[in-house]
Amino acid sequence: MTIAITGATGQLGSAVIKYLQEQNSTEKIVAVVRDIEKARAQFEGTDVEVRFGDYDEPVTLPNAFEGADKLLLVSSPSYDDPLRVVQHANAVKAARDAGVGHIFYTSIAFADESKLSLAPLHVATEFAIRTTGIPYTFIRNSLYSDVFINPDLSASVNSGEIVTNTGSGKLNTVTRDDLAKGTAAVLAGEGHENKTYNFVSSTTWTFDELADVLSRVSGKDVKHRNVSFDEQIAYLQQVGLPEGMAVFSASIYDNVANGETARTSTDLKQFIGEETSLEETVRQNLNA
Ligand code: NAP
Repeated sequence: MTIAITGATGQLGSAVIKYLQEQNSTEKIVAVVRDIEKARAQFEGTDVEVRFGDYDEPVTLPNAFEGADKLLLVSSPSYDDPLRVVQHANAVKAARDAGVGHIFYTSIAFADESKLSLAPLHVATEFAIRTTGIPYTFIRNSLYSDVFINPDLSASVNSGEIVTNTGSGKLNTVTRDDLAKGTAAVLAGEGHENKTYNFVSSTTWTFDELADVLSRVSGKDVKHRNVSFDEQIAYLQQVGLPEGMAVFSASIYDNVANGETARTSTDLKQFIGEETSLEETVRQNLNA
């Protein structure tokens, strides 16, 4: 069994490979990458085969996917969604041309019902995959916990506040690591043809709760300050984000405030068992 994985030098792809290796399975793993030297260093001393493949250079992709019984297509990190549609279509066509047996795709949670601005890109890619007739598995990932809970939170501990326009909106997030663990389990398993899994958490959290956890973990008083959409954009620019990123972040927070990220599921839990808690995620990121 050969499993090819794109985005293998990225955070999610490399963690999926780590978990596949930990299972000591007999699968051959092919890492599809843009930077061969970086990948060779990353996978040195392992059985992982490194192949070049760039979504922007379609001719490179069929060889990269050649012989793959399963392909994990990790979505492109570009912020240009029309470009991403093309990149993903290039990969899907190459998978068809290479005779890939089963395509797994990292989509977004509840893609066809989601109002997140990211959703149409993922719905388009899911449909592109379905046009091939190749068995598929859509792994619809939640927002990464790491987007909100990362070492930058030490600035909130120092200032005593987290500023968002989320109100009391609930977030459903999952760490990249938990998503990678679940994805590896699905990839290595059987019986997932034409299935869709919402890899979200079985619980939610709010920024008020995050402030409480930060206070407990750091021993300093941290409060959540709720602001308007425009105030949030101005605040994020003031702390150094470029305007585009500030608008993107405030829009996601707006979705949170409107209840768009509150849905739960046990799809992931059934593959990984215990999920990493909010407090554990905070502790990992603050080294506390
Ligand atoms: P990441 O660390 O940025 O990794 C992205 C990977 O995509 C890297 O290996 C990168 O290769 C590769 N890549 C970039 N452009 C490519 C191209 N033209 N052709 C082929 N490969 C290309 O992202 P991640 O954390 O692993 O996340 C995986 C994906 O999830 C992201 O790409 C993004 O689509 C999505 N995402 C989801 C969330 C969420 O909250 N659910 C948050 C962020 C991102 P290089 O090493 O050569 O750059």
